[in-house]
Amino acid sequence: MDQLLRQLPEGALVLDLGSATGSFEPRQFGLRAVRADLKPPQAGPGAWAVQADAACLPFRVGVFDAVVCSHSLEHFAKLEASLAEIGRVLRPGGVLYVAVPDASTLTDRLYRLLGRGGGHVQRFTSPQQIAGVVGRHTGLSLAAQRTLFSSLSFLHPSARGRAWRMRLLGWLTEGLLAWIVGLLRWLDRWAGTRLSVYGWALYFGSFKAPIETLPRTNMCVRCGAGHASEWLLRIGRVRPRRWFPKFRCPNCGTWNLFTHDKDYAAVV
Ligand SMILES: [Zn+2]
Repeated sequence: MDQLLRQLPEGALVLDLGSATGSFEPRQFGLRAVRADLKPPQAGPGAWAVQADAACLPFRVGVFDAVVCSHSLEHFAKLEASLAEIGRVLRPGGVLYVAVPDASTLTDRLYRLLGRGGGHVQRFTSPQQIAGVVGRHTGLSLAAQRTLFSSLSFLHPSARGRAWRMRLLGWLTEGLLAWIVGLLRWLDRWAGTRLSVYGWALYFGSFKAPIETLPRTNMCVRCGAGHASEWLLRIGRVRPRRWFPKFRCPNCGTWNLFTHDKDYAAVV
């Protein structure tokens, strides 16, 4: 998402759709944002809040330079009507960012099982499927796609909540979760599985500069933030070891197992 936001001109207006708390800080990118959600969204510096249904947006035609749907499309009950609305409120030449889970992965199955559906009413199983439905209803074509990896952060002790299904995971400590994610990542690299894949980030429309599509595999088990492996190495956050190197999350300080992003370039 950052890549799309950085390519927008200063002061551009972005619709942050389906993110009550905001999926980015507009001032950080020199942008303005409207956060729209079925639940009352939170306003913030440079961000207005509008309670609205994605299938019936209260905005004029072509008013937004970009639309961001970060982990929200899978929650939209009226997907096709919502996409048509996105196409309507985007200006000609506007761009769209979509991040969604792959419903066929272990991560999303676990999330839906433990969270009683987790509010995921749409199931996407390939980038082609998403590009097809987005293209039909918005007129936008897919410019780039990136595989997203999971850290199973919804299983972290601090994120589990009080549901009885989550209480069954009382034995799963932060350290053990980091090892499980490390093992899944290792299997994905060496056995060709997709056990630690979350889904995809898809970029629609025309972009001035190419979009970097190398996945970020160092996702923190506690805060869920993703960090580029080369950046972690550059800032000295990696404890290099022959076996099982680790990194300390720059966001929250948690130790996680470290992987090189380039080793996962072929996972889609
Ligand atoms: Zn973290």
